[in-house]
Amino acid sequence: MRTIVLGGGIVGVTTAYYLAKDGHEVTVIDRQDTVGQEATAVNAGLIAPAHCFAWASPAAPKMLIKSLFGEKTSIRVKPTLSPRFLWWGLQFLRECTSSRARINTLAKLELSEYSQRKLVEIATTEGIEYDGVNQGLVYLYRDEAELELGLMKMELLTSHGQKLERLSIEELARIDPAFAGAGDTIVGAIHAPNDASGNSEKYSRNLMARCKELGVEFKFGITAEKFLQKDGHITGLVTDHGTMTADNYVLALGVGSPFLSRSVGQDIPVYPAKGFSVTIDITNKAAAPTLGGVDEKTLVAWSPMGDKLRISSTAQFSGYDKSHKPSDFDNILNTARELWPDAADWDTARMTAGLRPMTPDGPPIIGKGPKHDNLYYNTGHGHMGWTMASGSSAMLADIIAGRTPEVSTEPFKVRSIRK
Ligand SMILES: Cc1cc2nc3c(=O)[nH]c(=O)nc-3n(C[C@H](O)[C@H](O)[C@H](O)COP(=O)(O)OP(=O)(O)OC[C@H]3O[C@@H](n4cnc5c(N)ncnc54)[C@H](O)[C@@H]3O)c2cc1C
Repeated sequence: MRTIVLGGGIVGVTTAYYLAKDGHEVTVIDRQDTVGQEATAVNAGLIAPAHCFAWASPAAPKMLIKSLFGEKTSIRVKPTLSPRFLWWGLQFLRECTSSRARINTLAKLELSEYSQRKLVEIATTEGIEYDGVNQGLVYLYRDEAELELGLMKMELLTSHGQKLERLSIEELARIDPAFAGAGDTIVGAIHAPNDASGNSEKYSRNLMARCKELGVEFKFGITAEKFLQKDGHITGLVTDHGTMTADNYVLALGVGSPFLSRSVGQDIPVYPAKGFSVTIDITNKAAAPTLGGVDEKTLVAWSPMGDKLRISSTAQFSGYDKSHKPSDFDNILNTARELWPDAADWDTARMTAGLRPMTPDGPPIIGKGPKHDNLYYNTGHGHMGWTMASGSSAMLADIIAGRTPEVSTEPFKVRSIRK
C-alpha cells in the first residue's frame, strides 16, 4: 500500500513509523526543511495525562469575555469576523457545560495514558533519545484556596486511575531542590508522579532516522495545496512541486489540515491557538528545575531539555499570524525569574511563537472521513499533541489495518465545523 503522510510534525512522523511497521510504502511531505519545525518545535515538553483537562469548560466563557475587555486572561481572543472562527467558537461554547467538559477530558485522559505508553515503547524499542525525564511533573500553587480547588478538580483524574499527591513546600523542595527558596511564592504543589517531559522535536528527528531505515521517504520544501477526488476517492495531491499520487493519504498538517480537507468538502473544526515559548541555556544547574511542571497561577509550563530549559504560556485566538513582540514573553520571563532567579541569564532567552491545532471540544480527529475511502485524518491535537501523538498514530494504524484499536475511537471521529 503506497501512503502519503502530509505533515512532518510529531503526529506525521509517528504516523509514518507505525505505517512503515505495518508494511506500507510511506512518503512524508512537509513544507519545512526537516521534521518537527512548527508546533512540535516550540511546545513546553510536557507528557502529561494529568494536564488533559478540556479547555472548553464552564469557566471558559467568562475568561473569554474578560479577555475581550483587555484583561490578560490565560485564554485570549482577538475579535475577528472570520466565519470559520465564529463557527469554531460556537461549537466551543456549546462544549462549555460541566458534563461535556467531563466527557471530553476523560476521552483525552484515556488517549493520553495510552499514548504515553506508546511513546515510551517506541523510544525503548527503537533507542530514541529525546531528553526524557520520567520522574513526574509538579503543578504549583501560590494560594491555599487555589490548591484546595486544584485538588478537587484533579479528583476527576484520580477517580479514573491517575496517581496524584499533595506536596508541602518542603516536600516539593525535596523532590526538586530548585524550589528550596520558593517558600515566599509557592504554598504547595500537586505531584503527578506518572507524568513526564521531553523534547518532541528531538524525538521527531531521531524517529525520522529510524523511519528512513524502515524505508520511509521524507520530502521537504513541498507545500500541499489541494486534493483531487473522483467518486469519493482521492486521486491525487496537488503540491507546489507537481501532483503526487498514492493509494492512501493521511492528513497530519496541524493547523494546516483544514485547508486541505476543505479542498474536498470536509471542513474539519481545527483552528489555531497561538502560544509563546522561550528556550534558554541553563548556566547554573543547581538552581534550575529538574522536573517539568505548570505554575497554576500564571499558567506558565516548563521542562528541562538536557542543558536547556523550555518555558511556554498563553493561548491566543488571533488567526494564523505567528508574529510576536517582547512584551508577549513578560509572563513567562517574570515567572521564570521569580521561581529560578539564578538558573540562567534570562536576557538571553530565545523567543518564538507557535500555533496549537485546537478542536473546539478537545479530542483530536483520528480516522477515516465520511466522504472518501482513502483519506485518513490524524490532526487537531491542540495543547496536548506531544502527549497524544504516539497513541493517536498507533490508533490510526490499527484503523487502517482493520485491527480493533486499544482505545475507543468514538470521541475522535472525523467531525465538521458546522453542525
Ligand atoms: C506554546 C505551545 C506549548 C505546547 N505545550 C505542549 C506540551 O507541553 N505538551 C503537549 O503534549 N503538547 C504541547 N503543545 C501542543 C503540541 O506542540 C502540538 O499539539 C503538536 O506539536 C501538534 O503536532 P502536529 O504534528 O499535529 O503539528 P505540527 O508540529 O505543527 O506539524 C504540522 C506540520 O505540517 C506542516 N505543514 C502544514 N501545512 C502544510 C502544507 N500545506 N504543506 C506542507 N506542509 C505543511 C508544517 O510544516 C509542520 O511541520 C504545545 C503547543 C504550543 C504552541
